[in-house]
Amino acid sequence: MSELPARRLLLVHAHPDDESINNGATMAKYAAEGAHVALVTCTLGEEGEVIPPGLAHLAPDREGGLGAHRIGELAAAMSELGVTDHRFLGGPGRFRDSGMMGVEQNRREGAFWNTDVDEAAGYLVEVIRSLRPQVLITYDPDGGYGHPDHIQAHRVAMRAAELAAEPGYRADLGAPHAVAKIYWNRVPRPVVERAFDALRATETDFPGIAAIDDVPGVVDESDITAEIDGAAHAAAKSAAMRAHATQITVQGPYFALSNGLGQPIFTTEYYQRAGGRAPVAAGRREHDLFEGVGE
Ligand SMILES: [Zn+2]
Repeated sequence: MSELPARRLLLVHAHPDDESINNGATMAKYAAEGAHVALVTCTLGEEGEVIPPGLAHLAPDREGGLGAHRIGELAAAMSELGVTDHRFLGGPGRFRDSGMMGVEQNRREGAFWNTDVDEAAGYLVEVIRSLRPQVLITYDPDGGYGHPDHIQAHRVAMRAAELAAEPGYRADLGAPHAVAKIYWNRVPRPVVERAFDALRATETDFPGIAAIDDVPGVVDESDITAEIDGAAHAAAKSAAMRAHATQITVQGPYFALSNGLGQPIFTTEYYQRAGGRAPVAAGRREHDLFEGVGE
């Protein structure tokens, strides 16, 4: 694998835009430092709500075409972050956005939520065995906030990491590879509270402000094991979020999803170590996700 850079990071996300919101600064930082940063997005986000009135016809209950449009948004976002390796799980459109929990689209043929975990994981095993990432980032078991595609992305990523390391599993997908460190996206509650306090004290054009519970992956400080200071890449993160124009509006250090409610953009991104063979740094927070993985 001599053609691969020494440090390799793989992120697994549910929809185009999740990567920029959750990990934009981390991705830009490691890409700028010469690490190989690879993104696997599990669906095209066909069920997303469309913000710009001029693009409302892309909605699934109108003409459709949102998925194809979001492929372009994702490509634009990745170019803002300096990330050149971005793929869709099983190829674009292989798995469909399942919509929010409880809607009829959850059960539709091809919906990601309705897919066998091991079958979907097979596609990711192939990526893991060819890129051989030391670090894997995905969501916690609740997918951060309970969206079925986010929960499924978590399950598929965790299962794929397990299967990729198993010598007896599908030799046709490449030589076994054990990911050294797996992280879940998290945000510490006090940080979220302070950021919302600042937002409430600021004049913005948002019609309202989101609730802290709208932020995915909020946990106690003690659950955080790594934080990545992405301040130097804040502009790239904002630009990447802006590139997802059907889904996100950005105002300074704040953004809103289709409900229009303001939320802070976090340029320090937080993680909880959740597996992998490398030793866990006990009693202190890491500031580099590659710490301790060796070359
Ligand atoms: Zn999503």
